[in-house]
Amino acid sequence: MNDIVRLAGRPVVVGGGLAGLMTALELAPEPVVLLSAAPLGSEASSAIAQGGLAAAIGSDDSPELHLADTLAAGDGLCDETVVRRIVGAAPLAIERLAELGVAFDRDASRALSLGLEAAHARRRIVHAAGAATGRELMRALVTAVRNTASITIVEGFAARRLLVEDGAITGVLAEDGFGSTVFAGSRVVLATGGVGGLFRDTTNPLGCFGQGLALAARAGAAFADLEFVQFHPTALDGLLRPMRLVSEAVRGEGAVLIDETGRRFLADLPGAELGTRDAVARGVHRHLARGHRVFLDARACLGKSFADRFPTIAGYCHEAGIDPAHEPIPVRPAAHYHMGGVAVDREGRSTVSGLWACGEVASTGLHGANRLASNSLTEAVVMASWVARSVAASPEANRTVSALSQAPTRPDPREACDIVSSSLGVLREGTGLRAAATALLPIASGNSPAADPAAVALMMAVSALGREESRGAHCRSDFPLRSGVARRSRITLDAALQAAASLDTSPIARSA
Ligand SMILES: Cc1cc2nc3c(=O)[nH]c(=O)nc-3n(C[C@H](O)[C@H](O)[C@H](O)COP(=O)(O)OP(=O)(O)OC[C@H]3O[C@@H](n4cnc5c(N)ncnc54)[C@H](O)[C@@H]3O)c2cc1C
Repeated sequence: MNDIVRLAGRPVVVGGGLAGLMTALELAPEPVVLLSAAPLGSEASSAIAQGGLAAAIGSDDSPELHLADTLAAGDGLCDETVVRRIVGAAPLAIERLAELGVAFDRDASRALSLGLEAAHARRRIVHAAGAATGRELMRALVTAVRNTASITIVEGFAARRLLVEDGAITGVLAEDGFGSTVFAGSRVVLATGGVGGLFRDTTNPLGCFGQGLALAARAGAAFADLEFVQFHPTALDGLLRPMRLVSEAVRGEGAVLIDETGRRFLADLPGAELGTRDAVARGVHRHLARGHRVFLDARACLGKSFADRFPTIAGYCHEAGIDPAHEPIPVRPAAHYHMGGVAVDREGRSTVSGLWACGEVASTGLHGANRLASNSLTEAVVMASWVARSVAASPEANRTVSALSQAPTRPDPREACDIVSSSLGVLREGTGLRAAATALLPIASGNSPAADPAAVALMMAVSALGREESRGAHCRSDFPLRSGVARRSRITLDAALQAAASLDTSPIARSA
């Protein structure tokens, strides 16, 4: 208890993935508390990232080209000013990571090896240990954090509520297996990752079910673009959760998508198997919905060299009892990345005084309707330095810690997960979204363990219902066209609760 009192007044960073670690490191030498539900380096999407970080470093590349590719992927919804700032800062962010000890892959002349990924016009993906970039990032940064005296690491504590008085943060209520504790302070940074755990099929660690979004929602924050979830088209199909990723690089080497009859069913799609991530995901989803099975076939293009070229993915296949040199790999789309999140400004500030958000939990405007591959790790590193600067420049306010009558129960995403998986998947339509919002409303308004995940799901469903068009990763079968006007969406929990309460789901109302 004395230890916790001693920490009062320090900024609290919630989350031990790339965004949280970098924010804490960039705040040094200012003392900071780093709160992580899981031991640092585990249970974070950052640790399992495969491809790498996008940065215009090559002699044939420029931030302008990186900007153009990001805007094209974002399908009209990116905030161009934000994109320009972030891609412009990306090369320096890579240098910073190297300084902190990240061993990036380099060529014989010690220059960074640059990979090429779908929808990037140039080789600009900085990677480490081949396709184990996340593991190397976390190894180096966890070591750096543990060696930084100004960072107090509190592992095994999950934030359950943000304490708010007069619209401003006064602390964080956190819980370990034994009880709850208040970390008093007027500056909190959310770095809690994404929402994949709200979907039955996901590549995210299962603890990533929007806990940070729920914390911000209960504190009254505004959110942006919550309806936009990127589905990866080729997750390894099987019972294992999270699902293992079979990266686009395998298709880049010539692997093709076939069904159980051996037919290449996406051959007519623009770009075929190397079309945009959302288009390939929709193609695979539709084929599965028609009762087929879908496989990624790398036998002809890679065959026996599969394991040399893709050792991590070969390991995943062997774990599932599949030999990719001789058998096609069963795949299906899986929720992978959340473009939406806590609405933040250029310094990562939310609409709640004293609350910042960084990494996947935040919506900066970089990704628009569809994230360009490898832009998210870059965003986390770049934004962390701006968030840290902003936090350091905001003096600790001496606010009274508000009392919380009851610690909320440990959240359980299962009930919301069933509803989200059936209504907010690759293809959405109005009837399903209305039914989802109606089912989620009483759960989100209650006090059960399902309440917080349901609140997040409700905001996503209401946002998806309000977007009556198909754009980027958001595809409405009842509104298949893209609207002429691109607008970002914005919502709060109160607005979502009100919108859901006023929905009329009777068949007569729907047909009116
Ligand atoms: C399989 C896979 C591959 C990917 N590959 C790439 C890639 O190559 N390039 C790229 O740019 N992006 C990639 N991404 C996306 C990228 O990894 C994530 O967007 C990014 O790592 C998010 O970082 P983060 O720090 O915001 O969140 P995370 O790394 O997910 O960390 C969140 C942290 O918050 C903690 N936490 C959550 N809730 C609480 C709570 N209530 N209290 C305390 N702690 C909490 C978690 O335990 C975790 O430590 C990939 C994602 C996946 C799943």
